[in-house]
Amino acid sequence: MTLPRQKIVILGGGPGGYEAALVAAQLGADVTVVDSDGIGGACVLTDCVPSKTLIETSNAMTLVNRSAGLGIATGGPASVNATRLYHRITDLARAQSSDIAARLAAEDVKVITAKGSLVGPGLVRAGDEQLRADAILVATGARPRILPGAQPDGERILTWRQLYDLTELPPDLIVIGSGVTGAEFASAYQALGSRVTLVSSRDRVLPHEDQDAANHIEEVFRRRGMTVLGRSRGRSVRRDRDGVTVTLDDGRTLTGSHCLLTVGMIPRTEHIGCDEAGVKLDARGFIEVDRVSRTSAPGVYAAGDCTGVLMLASFAAMQGRIAMWHALGEAVHPVRLDHVAATIFTDPEIATVGVTQRAVTAGEVSARVLELPLRTNPRAKMAGFTEGFVKLLSSPGTGVILGGVVVAPRASELILAVSIAVEQRLTVEQLAQTFAVYPSLSGSITEAARKLMEFTPDTP
Ligand SMILES: Cc1cc2nc3c(=O)[nH]c(=O)nc-3n(C[C@H](O)[C@H](O)[C@H](O)COP(=O)(O)OP(=O)(O)OC[C@H]3O[C@@H](n4cnc5c(N)ncnc54)[C@H](O)[C@@H]3O)c2cc1C
Repeated sequence: MTLPRQKIVILGGGPGGYEAALVAAQLGADVTVVDSDGIGGACVLTDCVPSKTLIETSNAMTLVNRSAGLGIATGGPASVNATRLYHRITDLARAQSSDIAARLAAEDVKVITAKGSLVGPGLVRAGDEQLRADAILVATGARPRILPGAQPDGERILTWRQLYDLTELPPDLIVIGSGVTGAEFASAYQALGSRVTLVSSRDRVLPHEDQDAANHIEEVFRRRGMTVLGRSRGRSVRRDRDGVTVTLDDGRTLTGSHCLLTVGMIPRTEHIGCDEAGVKLDARGFIEVDRVSRTSAPGVYAAGDCTGVLMLASFAAMQGRIAMWHALGEAVHPVRLDHVAATIFTDPEIATVGVTQRAVTAGEVSARVLELPLRTNPRAKMAGFTEGFVKLLSSPGTGVILGGVVVAPRASELILAVSIAVEQRLTVEQLAQTFAVYPSLSGSITEAARKLMEFTPDTP
């Protein structure tokens, strides 16, 4: 006798939803994804993919403008063709969305283009249809938070989702908010040739990140000519004839050509039937989940930005996969927050994994910390950059690598070595004995491990 196929319904086709759909289909389930705005989600269509594509161009610009120092004769500073740049970005995002839709179709996942909501136990509404499900996954994402006094008009006052409709590069851009998104766009637009003012409500940019890395990037921003305003909270933004006026909380005003709002995200959990289905939200409207993505309602899981646990595409995808493995009876490891690698795509990039120095300073974790500047790295010298560092944290007793920070061009690629060390509980000795290519930036990771070995094991 064959058992009936389990029915899975997924609300939302971003990485939280589509990666879960692929896993569930692979496990033989009958899977339907209900998505309102486009497969790939905000991740692919408006947020992660477009911003990283923009940043690839800004990195190329930096390289071109640095090339004279590397012995290349050019005809002067490079400039950007904004229309071509934005078309490339939107075309690439659409193509990525189509690729994912094709993958879902190839795995027999049904996709319904509609707004969906939970109706009750095991029941979902998708437009006019009612769908029965053995398990439901909610992965509806989040949207940009808007300041009450700064209504985006899509022309001069913008959320990051509206940038790619512009026909020019903002000549004088004011970015309100200096978290990850604000810092990334400020860095990219400055490299592309905009004059940038970054308004930070805290003492420094990237207040939640490794303090050394944040200080370093702020210094780089200032050295390159960015105006960084600390302890300055944007209160309102007014559209003028040819630009914008931003009023800060203390009454100061700033003028620019455009204003970009990067002041956080609001979960898309309104009007999706959470109350009806008994799905509990926290005070900020995020869906409460445990480490295998279960909500408070039996049979209803949630993944991604709508849970607010860690707002990263890779994390959303992992939460979604774990939900499906759990729902379909597979062995599953609860998600580990302290092993998640993340990158801030400024120039240089800031990549982190594992235990943070903040936790060490707060006395929550005991660790040795070693920071090695990249300016002595031979490959860095050859490439002509002097900024950045590698930081490793290890257990004082066992020498096990607990975490790390890499500030460097392509730190997003370099961090994998530290990630593997953290995940596999490698010791500084094991990392130090691993071959790194000469010359390479990753040579600084093994060198940092060698330096940490000088202290290991702990002497009484
Ligand atoms: C500017 C920016 C850059 C970023 N860069 C990175 C990065 O470099 N790396 C990284 O890991 N993360 C990055 N992120 C974060 C990443 O984009 C998110 O963590 C990721 O999109 C979360 O995926 P998700 O599936 O939860 O939601 P989303 O990608 O938002 O997808 C949710 C989907 O649900 C649909 N939906 C919503 N409500 C309904 C409904 N009622 N019915 C049907 N469908 C619905 C939406 O249409 C959407 O398609 C970035 C974020 C921003 C803002």
